[in-house]
Amino acid sequence: MNGRKVTVIGSINMDLVTSTNQIPKVGETVLGNSFHSIPGGKGANQAVAAARLGADVTMIAAVGNDSFGKTLVEHLTNEGINTENIIKVKDTSTGIASIIVSEADNSIIVVPGANNHVTPEVIEKHENKIINSDIILLQLEISVESVIKAVELAKKHGVRTILNPAPIQKLPKELLEMVDYLTPNEHEQALLFDSIGGTEEELAKYKEKCIVTKGSKGVMIYKNGEKIEIPSFQVEAVDTTGAGDSFNGALAVALCDGLEIEEACRFANVVGAISVTKLGAQTGMPTKKKLKNFYK
Ligand code: ATP
Repeated sequence: MNGRKVTVIGSINMDLVTSTNQIPKVGETVLGNSFHSIPGGKGANQAVAAARLGADVTMIAAVGNDSFGKTLVEHLTNEGINTENIIKVKDTSTGIASIIVSEADNSIIVVPGANNHVTPEVIEKHENKIINSDIILLQLEISVESVIKAVELAKKHGVRTILNPAPIQKLPKELLEMVDYLTPNEHEQALLFDSIGGTEEELAKYKEKCIVTKGSKGVMIYKNGEKIEIPSFQVEAVDTTGAGDSFNGALAVALCDGLEIEEACRFANVVGAISVTKLGAQTGMPTKKKLKNFYK
C-alpha cells in the first residue's frame, strides 16, 4: 500500500475579480459590473485538487496576518488540508491577484505579499514534514531559491518531487537535475528549454522528466527520446482556469498510488478535464466520489 501524503509548498492568494465593460485608462474611473473574491494561488489550488481526491495534504506556505489570510486558511482547512504549517506573517499582506475582466481583455496585478516569506530558511525548518511526505508538489509562485531548497531536502530523504514550472522563469540546471517530474504546458516548455540552452543531447535528460500539458489535446511525455501522446478526456469546456493546477494535484495523487507514468497522466487528464466543466479554478475540481463515474 502506497502512502498518500502530499506536501504542497507554494502560494496562497485571494483573487479579486472585477468585471467591467471598460478597463480604465490612466487617471480614469469607471463603474464595474460585479466583484468576487475567490481563493486561488497555484499552491493552494493544487493542494485542493489533491485533497478532494482523498490525499493527505499538508501545505507549507505563508499568509499575512489579515482577513484574507484568515479566510483562506479556513477555506483550506475546510477542504481537509493540514494548515498547521502555514505561517502568518506580520505587517505583510496576504498574496492577492487583482484581476480586471472586460469582454475581450483582462489585466492582472499580482502582489505576492506573504508568499515571498516562504524562504529557504522556512523550508529548512519544515524538513521533518518533507521527510514524512510521499511526494512534494511545487510551483514557481514562491522564490526559485526556496524551490531549490525544498527539492534538495526532498532528494536528501528520497522523497519524489513534481515541479510545475509556472509562471515560467529561467531555472538553474542544478534544479532540473534534482527534480523528478516537470509539468510545463506547451508554452512553458518551449521557454524553459530556450532559456537553458545546450545541445539536444544535453536537454534530452530534462525532457525525459517532462509531462507537457496541452490543454484539450491532453499531454505529451518523452520515453527514451520518443514522444508519447496521451489524449485528453473529452468534455464541454466552460472555463479552463486552473486546469493545470487540477492536473498537477491529480498527478501527485496518482504517483502516490503507484500508477505508472502513462496511467498517472490518464488519471490526471480526466481530473483536468472535469475541472474545466465549471466556472472558477477550484469549483470544478472533482472529489474522489464524483471521479468514480469517469475514471475506472
Ligand atoms: P492553466 O494555466 O489554465 O491552469 P495550463 O496551461 O497550465 O492551465 P493546460 O495544458 O491548459 O494547463 O491543461 C492542463 C490539463 O487539463 C490538460 O493536459 C488536460 O488534461 C486538461 N484540460 C485542459 N483543458 C481541457 C479541455 N478543454 N478539455 C479536456 N481537458 C482539458
